[in-house]
Amino acid sequence: MRPGLQPSRDSAFFWQGLRDEKLLCQSCDHCGRLRHPPRPMCPDCGALQWSARPLSGRGRVHAWIKPVHPLLPMFEEGFLVALVELDEGIRLLSNLCEISAADVRNEMPVEVFFIEVDAEGAKVHQFRPIGELGHG
Ligand SMILES: [Zn+2]
Repeated sequence: MRPGLQPSRDSAFFWQGLRDEKLLCQSCDHCGRLRHPPRPMCPDCGALQWSARPLSGRGRVHAWIKPVHPLLPMFEEGFLVALVELDEGIRLLSNLCEISAADVRNEMPVEVFFIEVDAEGAKVHQFRPIGELGHG
């Protein structure tokens, strides 16, 4: 079992969204800028007011790694960590699944899916390839 999630006051909406299988980010109420990870203030205009906005869950692999050491007991061996650039332009750190490291390509299109991580229904976002490999 993976370590328990630790939502903060700023990130609680994000984790709650994942429980509902929605990927949310903050949208500044003043200038409209999207931001992630969650934080209290808009980095562009300094406004404190924001709204939660749903994201498409589609994007492309911006960068990725296959951790080799140390192996973490709560993860299966061979998992991949990816920085995904979503269609909305923000980047999200996650796992890349349903593909082997040898087949991963930068900029390959991916989509979000959700897995349950504890008995209370907490979920996390994961990504998997969409479409034909190397296409687009
Ligand atoms: Zn702003």
